[in-house]
Amino acid sequence: MELRPSDRLLETPPYPFIALAAKKRELVAKGADLIDFGIGDPDQPTPQHIVEALCRAAHDPATHRYDESGLGIPEFRRAVADRYQKRFGVALDPDREILRLIGSKDGIAHLPWAVINPGDVALIPDPAYPVYLRAVRFAGGEPHIMPLLPQAGYLPDLDAIPKDIASKARLMWLCYPNQPTAAVCDLDFYRRVVQFAQRHNILVALDLAYSEVTFDGYVAPSILQVDGAKEIAIEFHSLSKTYNMTGWRIGFAVGNAAAIKALGDLKSNVDSGVFAAIQQAGVAALTGAQDCVQRMREEYRVRRDILVDGLRALGCPVEKPRGTFYVWAPVPSGADSAAFAETLLAGAGIICTPGSAYGKHGEGFVRFSLTVEGGDQGAEARVREAVSRIKDRVKASWQ
Ligand SMILES: *Cc1c(COP(=O)(O)O)cnc(C)c1O
Repeated sequence: MELRPSDRLLETPPYPFIALAAKKRELVAKGADLIDFGIGDPDQPTPQHIVEALCRAAHDPATHRYDESGLGIPEFRRAVADRYQKRFGVALDPDREILRLIGSKDGIAHLPWAVINPGDVALIPDPAYPVYLRAVRFAGGEPHIMPLLPQAGYLPDLDAIPKDIASKARLMWLCYPNQPTAAVCDLDFYRRVVQFAQRHNILVALDLAYSEVTFDGYVAPSILQVDGAKEIAIEFHSLSKTYNMTGWRIGFAVGNAAAIKALGDLKSNVDSGVFAAIQQAGVAALTGAQDCVQRMREEYRVRRDILVDGLRALGCPVEKPRGTFYVWAPVPSGADSAAFAETLLAGAGIICTPGSAYGKHGEGFVRFSLTVEGGDQGAEARVREAVSRIKDRVKASWQ
C-alpha cells in the first residue's frame, strides 16, 4: 500500500520549525558558525531543585502507574491553586477548575475538538502561534482572522468583527504577553473582551505561556481577574518558559469549569495523563522559591537590551518588549520577511523566524528569540556578535 496522509494533514503546512531545524543541521555539518534566534526554547537548564524533585518522585513506585486522577494528581492541582492565588489573587477550585496538561500545547491543540462543531466559527489572531489556527481547522471549525496591527498595539479590534461572525463564533484565541509580537496588554483590555464574549456567548481561550517572562516592572494580568470571567474564559499556562522546562511536557488549564471538564473528557480518550513524577516536579516548581524566575527574567532582559539597542543603532525602529523573550523587528523597507530572514542566514549565519510564518499580518517583521545558546562565549557575547554581523556583513539599512 502507498500511504496517502489524510486531507486534513495534506492541507496543513509543515510545522514552521521542522524545516528550519533540518536546514540548521545541514549548515552546522558544513562548519557554519550559526547564532540561533530561531525557536523559542530556553537555553538555560531547569533549576536544580525541580530536577531533584523529579528524581525523588521517580524512585517512588506510586508514581509508576497510570495517572488515573482525571484532572491531575491532587498535589499538583493544589500547587496550581496556591500559586495562582498568590500570583493573580484569584481563587480556583482544584476539583473543577484546574486540569494538568502534557505541556500547554496539548490543551491548546485539543480544545477545539472539545468545544466546537464542524462549521463553528473561531476567532484567531494573526500573527499568532500556529497551533490555534491549525487545531481549529483539524476540528472542522471555520477560522475568522483578527489582525493584530502595530498601530493598535497588537490588540484585536473587537468592534471590527462583523456582527454575524460574532454571533456564530464559539471560541476566541488570545495570547498576552504575545507570541510572536512581544506585545503586552492591561486588565482593561480583558474587561472589554469579557463583555464582548458574554454578549456573544463565546469561550475565550487565553494563552499565558509568557505570563512570567516580563520586564521593567510590567506584571501580566490574568483574564480571570475580571469579574464574571470564569463564565466565559479558559486559560493555558505552561511551566516550559517560566522554569526552563520545555522538554518535560507539563502545563495546565484553569478557568471555566464546563470547559475544563470538556477538555478533560476529550483528553481521557486521547492520552493517559502525565507521569506523576513530572507532576511532583511541577509541584516543586510552583511551590518552591521563585528566585529562579527572577534570574530568568534578568538573563533575557540583558540580552534584549543588547539586541534592541544594537538594532536601533543601525536605524531599525524596533520596540523594547516588556514581555516574552522575543524581539519583533521590522525588516528594512522594501524587504519581505522571508527574504530578509534568508539574507541574515546566508550573509551572517543568523537564524531568526520570518514574521510571515505566523500569518500574513506578520509580514514585514522578523522574530528574534533571545534563547540564544552562548557556548564558551556566553549568550550576551553571541547577541553582541550578531549585531555586529548584521552591521558589517549584511549592511542592513532601515533608513
Ligand atoms: C511555547 C508556547 C506554548 C507551548 O508551551 P508548552 O511547552 O506546550 O507548554 C504555547 N503557546 C505559546 C504562545 C508558546 O510560545
